[in-house]
Amino acid sequence: MQSFALEQGRDIADTIRRGQALDADYIAGGTDLLQLLKDNIRNPSTLIDLEGLGLGEITATSDGLRLGAMARMGDVADHPAVRRDYPVLAEALLASAAPQIRNLGTMGGNLLQRTRCTYFRDTASPCNKRLPGSGCAAIEGHHRTLAIFGGSRHCIATHASDLAVALAALDAIVHVQGANGVRDIKVTELHLPPNDHPDIETVLQPGELILAISVPAGPWTGRSHYLKVRDRASFEFALASAAVALDIADGTIRSARIAAGGVGTKPWRLSAAEQALAGAPATSDSWARAGQLATEGAAPLPGNRFKVPLLQATVTRALQQAGGEA
Ligand code: SF4
Repeated sequence: MQSFALEQGRDIADTIRRGQALDADYIAGGTDLLQLLKDNIRNPSTLIDLEGLGLGEITATSDGLRLGAMARMGDVADHPAVRRDYPVLAEALLASAAPQIRNLGTMGGNLLQRTRCTYFRDTASPCNKRLPGSGCAAIEGHHRTLAIFGGSRHCIATHASDLAVALAALDAIVHVQGANGVRDIKVTELHLPPNDHPDIETVLQPGELILAISVPAGPWTGRSHYLKVRDRASFEFALASAAVALDIADGTIRSARIAAGGVGTKPWRLSAAEQALAGAPATSDSWARAGQLATEGAAPLPGNRFKVPLLQATVTRALQQAGGEA
């Protein structure tokens, strides 16, 4: 690990001013960043500590949730209103990490964590995301865990956040502040697919800071579920996951929100499956039909073709568990 300066801004504006420096990184819980520093994947000259900015709120009202960027994963997962009214969020957070990580990891940091592609974390391998123009070792190499949606010829890395998948399904909004003021970004539009620039991962501008996340209330949030399928039951990232939220009245699905993880270069909304469920009866046949549609547009490689039936089964089962059968 290279040495770095550790700074703290006087307030949010001063923090953002410092964060605009080319060679500076924000540090929140540090659960991902410290590993990147140790492995020489990131070598910033300055870390700007976000503790002390007062961004730790967890507020539940009739309009929805507001989660401060520095709210800890464990505190959000354990919050009574989140557990009761937004189970998909609590389940995604509990499935994300061990308690020690949840006690440190933050909402904002979790959204901005980097991919777990093995080659990205191995500085001896070519990787367009870590070193633009160096190539992608995964496309012709081991890509069993990587994306079947949203890849390009330059990168097929999956986005690793379970939280982002649940927030994408719930139409959450990220509130950010930068040099040009405050703006709101839909979680579904925060992350970028790799295209020709896998190294550019979000729409955030240099120094732009996540302040909070809003999750709108709706009749679908209470009937929601997160299902994560992985090689082992803990300390592992998703091979496929599904976040589902259903609005059902009198046995009919009024609307469905479905997002997938472990399969996309960013959290992936499954609009064909959602549209097929709108107005359909809440039955096993509907869940199975939506599961089949979940992989519409998938582009697997030989080593991750198994994710197609795996995602179909994961979405079907998540819908069954959230929706039952009326
Ligand atoms: Fe790097 Fe992306 Fe290729 Fe993985 S898939 S080696 S992160 S360019």
